[in-house]
Amino acid sequence: MTRLILKKQIAPRIANGHPWIYGNEVARVEGPVEGGDIVEVFYGDGKPAGQAYINPKSQIIARLLTRKPEKIDEDFFHRRILQAWQYRQKLGYIENCRLVFGEADLLPALVIDKFNDYFVIQTLSLGMDRWKPAIVKALESIFSPKGIYERNDVPVRELEGLPQQKGFLSAPFDTNILITENGLKFNVDIENGQKTGYFLDQQDNRRAIQHIVKGAEVLGAFTYTGTFEIHAAHYGARSVLGLDISENAVAQANRNAALNGLEKICHFEAVNAFDVLKQWGKDGRQYDVVMLDPPAFTKSRENIQKAVTGYKEINLRGMKLIRNGGFLVTSSCTNLVHPELFLQTIDAAAKDAKKRIRQVTFQAQSADHPIIWGIENTNYLKFLIVEVTDK
Ligand code: SAH
Repeated sequence: MTRLILKKQIAPRIANGHPWIYGNEVARVEGPVEGGDIVEVFYGDGKPAGQAYINPKSQIIARLLTRKPEKIDEDFFHRRILQAWQYRQKLGYIENCRLVFGEADLLPALVIDKFNDYFVIQTLSLGMDRWKPAIVKALESIFSPKGIYERNDVPVRELEGLPQQKGFLSAPFDTNILITENGLKFNVDIENGQKTGYFLDQQDNRRAIQHIVKGAEVLGAFTYTGTFEIHAAHYGARSVLGLDISENAVAQANRNAALNGLEKICHFEAVNAFDVLKQWGKDGRQYDVVMLDPPAFTKSRENIQKAVTGYKEINLRGMKLIRNGGFLVTSSCTNLVHPELFLQTIDAAAKDAKKRIRQVTFQAQSADHPIIWGIENTNYLKFLIVEVTDK
């Protein structure tokens, strides 16, 4: 097997559990290299570091799959996926969950979402893409799924020299499926929905609004399929208005509200949240609870400041719409804005809005997306509820 020998200075990071090896961390490669192949990795002092898949076209030249001398074959992927499933079950995620969360499940660049009997897969690196047949086989043998779909229509694949693509990995099936979350029903559009079709990472956080929305007038911006808003109505909100820039999202949100018999309480509008929140602030509109769940404002380190400005602006506008003693429910889904920076940004927004805030809860993504300390990109979602009072 081809051997990849690391430079001396990077050993501690890799030894501490991080699976990525950058091109400039490699001293030399001994043997033939074909993109996607499994290679043996050694520290600079000659000690074995494990086995990785390699892609000379990528900045991340290799990602470790195992630290052990085990064989990387179909059975390896079966074992890893089964372990990931056992972990989810232990934590109580049975119907829907992120079954595999890449690095956090020792399967770098692999994402699998489970929506009851349906599975959506993303293989985001060449080395993982090669094992797609083994991954599908493992899912078939563990779950006997009703359907498996590939949502590899993501730009990050191009960094690996892979095409963007989507399609069936099982016999074709109706890709508009129905899931139950916290006792509510939601349509999931596996083929055309955002990312894998549905944001499972907020599934626990949606429960966190239960008490604060009772009897409340609620405004939710960046609603997508209306999940937070429909939860609010279910938990007893008096009225709920959800906003999304996409007409398609609003149509889905309306369908989901009707599916739960909450269409009289929930209304949705296709508008730009930045514009209307500003205008409604000027108009003096007021809500008891404002919920914000914007898309990642940045995917690159260079734009962190721009993202922070975006978060501050939208939260400032949101806070101005909150009645004295109401609540702000706010999220950020980019790992580049760290939790402390996010809290500082909300603090700055409150000061500018001349509001006093009191933290109710501060959470990350749901536990089916485990966080590994030292693997930065696994800690990405911030979910904050604050009480907002006038100064
Ligand atoms: N809250 C949702 C996820 C939101 S994803 C959930 O729990 O599932 C972010 C959403 O913001 C997307 O649906 C996107 O269409 C919408 N969006 C992006 N920019 C927007 C803008 N300027 N105004 C309103 N919505 C916007």
